[in-house]
Amino acid sequence: MRDVLIVGGGVSGLAAGIFTARAGLDTLVVDGGESILARNASLENYPGFPDGIDARLYLRMAREQAKSAGCKFELGHVTSAEPIDDTDLEAGFRVDTEGGEPLEARRLIAASWSDSEWLTPLDVGREQRGSKYMVRVDDGGRTAVDGVYAAGRIAGEPHQTIVAAGHGAKVGLAAIHDSDAAFYHDWVAPEGYFTGRDREVPPGCEEIDDEERLERDERARETMREWLAGPFDDEPTMHPSVETE
Ligand SMILES: Cc1cc2nc3c(=O)[nH]c(=O)nc-3n(C[C@H](O)[C@H](O)[C@H](O)COP(=O)(O)OP(=O)(O)OC[C@H]3O[C@@H](n4cnc5c(N)ncnc54)[C@H](O)[C@@H]3O)c2cc1C
Repeated sequence: MRDVLIVGGGVSGLAAGIFTARAGLDTLVVDGGESILARNASLENYPGFPDGIDARLYLRMAREQAKSAGCKFELGHVTSAEPIDDTDLEAGFRVDTEGGEPLEARRLIAASWSDSEWLTPLDVGREQRGSKYMVRVDDGGRTAVDGVYAAGRIAGEPHQTIVAAGHGAKVGLAAIHDSDAAFYHDWVAPEGYFTGRDREVPPGCEEIDDEERLERDERARETMREWLAGPFDDEPTMHPSVETE
């Protein structure tokens, strides 16, 4: 039984997983396809990339970050989810994937734009908007069913990458708060920031000294140099209804 199962390894699912895994929750991300962002030709409105970034490269880097944070990944198209025990949602949820073994988790995060069909047996509260279905959520991404959350576009958020990422992070934080993980903030602070005021380092936070800070900075720059050494080869995915040769 995992702590958190995230359906959808696109923008919001990866952001949610980075937070839940870093908070020590055993997190599995199941993805059955490709983020809609793979169709983008140049991602130019995501803060931190002054001249933009290749969207497929961004997705690969976000996935690597989620892996380093401790997320496990599984390929699979999720077809349905149901409570393990109808009378006790604390017992968690069972998720079926096409042709795979059922997966179990205490909490579910639906980050599966544009498919919410698999949530139908759970009756989380879906509403049709145009040709798509969105999932109704509260401020933390909680649905009508305790332990089930929705993140990103599927939760009705604006169709933008930074919003999907931010919402995924927020939903991840809600799942952490609803669990029994000790958590204050996910912060890395300089040595003495808390302890220099005779405070304990709060759960989820870390203090690092200068040597460690410089080591991490060196590693971070090396990683970015490697990722950005040359152009990323993958082409954008065309809309399926556009005819290509
Ligand atoms: C052509 C195009 C250009 C765009 N350009 C920009 C831009 O320039 N700037 C910008 O901010 N935004 C842009 N966007 C929007 C951006 O891509 C989305 O808003 C963002 O990707 C939404 O994130 P998400 O996590 O909600 O969904 P996604 O990133 O699409 O992730 C959903 C994931 O769920 C998986 N999934 C779905 N159903 C299942 C299932 N049943 N089982 C398992 N996995 C499943 C999918 O495979 C996918 O990986 C663009 C979109 C398009 C189509």
